Amino acid sequence: MAGATKPEASTAAELWPREEARRLAERVAAYAPSRPVIFQSGFGPSGLPHLGTMAEILRPSFVRKAFHLLEPSRPSRLIVFIDDLDGLRKVPENVPNREATQQYLGVPVSKIPDPFGCCASFADHMIGLLGGFLAPVEVEYELKRASEMYSSGQFDEGLKLILDKRAEIIAIIAPTLREENRAGWSPFMPICPKCGQVVERSVTAYHPERRAIEFTCEKSAGGTRGCGFSGEQSVLGGKAKVQWKVDWALRWYVLKVDYELYGKDLTDSARLSGQILRVMGARAPLGFPFEMFLDEEGHKVSKSVGRGVTVDQWTRYAPIEVLKYFLLLNPRRARKLFLEAIPQYVDEYLDAVREYAAASAEQRRESILEYVIQSTTPRRFNSALSFGLMMNLVAALGSSDRDFIWNYIVRYDPSIAGDAETEKMGRALMECALNFYRDFIEPTKQPYTPSDAERGQLITLVAWLRENQNASAEEIEKRIYDLGRENYDKPGKIFPLLYRSILGQQRGPRLGAFIRLATPARIVELIDATLARA
Ligand SMILES: [Zn+2]
Ligand SMILES: [Zn+2]
Repeated sequence: MAGATKPEASTAAELWPREEARRLAERVAAYAPSRPVIFQSGFGPSGLPHLGTMAEILRPSFVRKAFHLLEPSRPSRLIVFIDDLDGLRKVPENVPNREATQQYLGVPVSKIPDPFGCCASFADHMIGLLGGFLAPVEVEYELKRASEMYSSGQFDEGLKLILDKRAEIIAIIAPTLREENRAGWSPFMPICPKCGQVVERSVTAYHPERRAIEFTCEKSAGGTRGCGFSGEQSVLGGKAKVQWKVDWALRWYVLKVDYELYGKDLTDSARLSGQILRVMGARAPLGFPFEMFLDEEGHKVSKSVGRGVTVDQWTRYAPIEVLKYFLLLNPRRARKLFLEAIPQYVDEYLDAVREYAAASAEQRRESILEYVIQSTTPRRFNSALSFGLMMNLVAALGSSDRDFIWNYIVRYDPSIAGDAETEKMGRALMECALNFYRDFIEPTKQPYTPSDAERGQLITLVAWLRENQNASAEEIEKRIYDLGRENYDKPGKIFPLLYRSILGQQRGPRLGAFIRLATPARIVELIDATLARA
């Protein structure tokens, strides 16, 4: 596919979750045997879940899997923390009724009506989407909502500590702010009882003995529209939230988080949150910043704009296991992800499945497929057919009749129907190939009109194919090279003519195997149609 970079090999030796699991085992070695290891991941319900969200939840789950292979008896939990008390800063571009939602800027997303009109709140809709979005990848996790953690009092111990240590926390954060923002910065953001907004830089006095703060919801406070309320309020029980970097430290503290991965854009936040956590008397979790996904133009994929590849698209063009496989690749490397690159990952995944099927039980434990395979995943693919070749077959047949295409495939390689698992995978790949062909290849097909010299070459090939209907892939390949050598200074120069004449495209698969698969008879029909065009 044009512009796609070659996928990197992902061998067992460079499996990063295993390295992470080893570090984690060292960290928790002194824990009581029954104390669970806590993995955390965050989801901000102020926008729709996207592929980055999937990465943030699946990647720690891979480390968790590696950890269990290492220490099978130690319990663990993967917490997905939902910050639904976050005040909405910007209405995402990809939600309906944007104007109606605009009036709730600054209000926690758990208190904003659902713009889609179906759920209890904006946050509830996004959380519902997250659940549906994670269902096909069979990942085990538990949700914790900020609104519940704060209002139920589960965060209170940590909040008291933050109130007591506020001077040290301010000393960590203030120097990182622009000078004009330093004065009046507070770890606490009260939730205004009158207008419901989460009010920043509003605290005017602290009363630690009463666990309370004084604040003013100023009418012109930094961009949000305050209501003018002024008064004293508890910092406990959900009446106040803490600023983001303090909030992250608070989660780590209260939930006793051992492991968290985060996007590279949060590197500074993670460092500062770790410092705050030390002030609170705890140890920062393990983890590292991962690189972001970039879209085809090299822009960062963001939840508010929703560019890039969606999970729905993945499952339309590739088995879901291929997405998990992709997310297992080294996360310290930035990756451009666009749909045209997916078929290469499918073929790399099929290689991994073939290796897995041939491996011993011992070797399988070391296989990367251990991280990818799901309850319904076919565990073997006893065919040498590639996804790329299957897509080209779909293109050559120009039909979406499943039985018709399947019969072609089975005639070429009977082993694809030789056992139930291989056939299941084969049929799934055929569906994906049909979707990919219909969406991307068919619209770019261009009928080609050959020159007189080219017509001569095509007529020679057609005549040979008619006489050699049973030729092997190698014999066909050799005849094409000979024909290239007879007509060009380099034999490969005949390929573009053949791809244009057979597929209506500039590029294509290895022709010997492809013509064998599509059958010489079908290729003759396609070339005849091109010849008839002149
Ligand atoms: Zn809804
Ligand atoms: Zn207010």
